Amino acid sequence: MKIQEVFDKYIENNSKSDTNRSSLGSHRGKIKKYITFIKNADIDSALAEKNLRDFIFDKKQQPHGKYDALFNFYKYYYEKILNVNGREIPNFPIDVKEVKVTSKRDSKREVVYFPVGFNFNNLFDDKHYHHLNNENAKLAIKASFSLALSAGYDTGEMFPTNRSNKSVIMTLDDCIVEDNYVKVRNYYTQSTVPWILIGGKNAEYIKDYYEVRRHFSVKHAGQEKNFIAHIWETSELNIDESVVSGRPYTPYQLVSYMLKYITRKLGLDSPVITDLRANMVFHSLHNSKGSALRDIIELYGYLPFVQNAFEEYCIEVNRGIDTYFSPLSFDIARESLEDNTLRFDEDEKKKVRTREDILNKWIRDSIKVKKLKKVYNNCCQICGRQLTLIEGIVYSEVHHIQPFNKEHKGIDDYPNMLVLCPNHHKLFDLGIIALDPEDHNIILHVDKNNRLNKTNLKLSKHELSSICVRYHFENIFLEISKQLHFL
Ligand SMILES: [Zn+2]
Repeated sequence: MKIQEVFDKYIENNSKSDTNRSSLGSHRGKIKKYITFIKNADIDSALAEKNLRDFIFDKKQQPHGKYDALFNFYKYYYEKILNVNGREIPNFPIDVKEVKVTSKRDSKREVVYFPVGFNFNNLFDDKHYHHLNNENAKLAIKASFSLALSAGYDTGEMFPTNRSNKSVIMTLDDCIVEDNYVKVRNYYTQSTVPWILIGGKNAEYIKDYYEVRRHFSVKHAGQEKNFIAHIWETSELNIDESVVSGRPYTPYQLVSYMLKYITRKLGLDSPVITDLRANMVFHSLHNSKGSALRDIIELYGYLPFVQNAFEEYCIEVNRGIDTYFSPLSFDIARESLEDNTLRFDEDEKKKVRTREDILNKWIRDSIKVKKLKKVYNNCCQICGRQLTLIEGIVYSEVHHIQPFNKEHKGIDDYPNMLVLCPNHHKLFDLGIIALDPEDHNIILHVDKNNRLNKTNLKLSKHELSSICVRYHFENIFLEISKQLHFL
């Protein structure tokens, strides 16, 4: 099979579906160029690593767009032509990270991230600090790491770079130590929150250093107030030759050195990880499945380190191939819904609209329910299917996860709503199925042997409230499970 034949099918297949059309528009041209580039070779050879690589990295254009287009096409070929199940598709021969590193836009603000799941406690392991041979330096570095990871302070500087007066560094007054937490000043000008509370181990590291700094004998005026200052004798530090020659060190240099040293010791040496703030954002987005973004922006604003980490997270999670239904386009969504009826002529369209109006009088949805159904195009979040009422008119129901009535007091808002087909709606209402309160994408069934149990939602385009999901799980699902003797 020649690549051109696959491409023809790809065009035909994609133009049937509205949601794919826009991404196809930007991909079509690039795939055509690729077909010319490899002289309409056989598909096997066309999807071989060397050819893909030669085209994507030809230096005439940024590799990003070409990568996305070919990645999408590659996936299409395996899924739709070879009928390979999503999980069994062989990995695209080029890793998305390669494209990122060579991109000009990114190299300017290149950030290296710890692998997902990295344990940040590694940074505080005492064994890495022995060679410093200096207790105060150790405490200062740990406090600095802590401030970067929990309050977004610039690594090693203990003051954010966007502070208006850059010569001012963090003073003792900018940190307030309480029993269970410490409070540090938030310097981010894009934030309205003046203080950041830090708990747990991070607070302990900051407290330890704070104590040392508070009792440190001051050598010259102005030093006494500074939270971080040259509290150690740099000449006493017994670290490797290349670093020794660079003294005296600023706190920034020392902290950077330690970050390099530790990442190298952990075998993560290429390239060196330096921006702990961006890492902190990236990893908290992963841990929270993206929902931490709102809090992060509230605390720091949408500064370049936040933006960079967010983009990295999106690339990691989606690999840039999923098409999204824009949550901002409710009205446009209505139009695209009407587009589905294009195959009817004008008269038929009118007929459909009248029929729709008649049915809507019986269905009587609230505005929010209508909007949410549009977002999902009336597709059930569990099975992905629509119920066709009559030709051209599809139907779905909206389920309140925590029931919206006097007894259960659920809210009538999107985070408490699911779009479902009538069958799955009934299963939810009865509590036969529920969403996992720890992972809102996972479906639980009272009967663990049921094929729905532990499967993922087919569609998930809006955030759900943890409170509502947990309420339904505990008060309805577990309750019926008990009564039916499944627990
Ligand atoms: Zn369904």
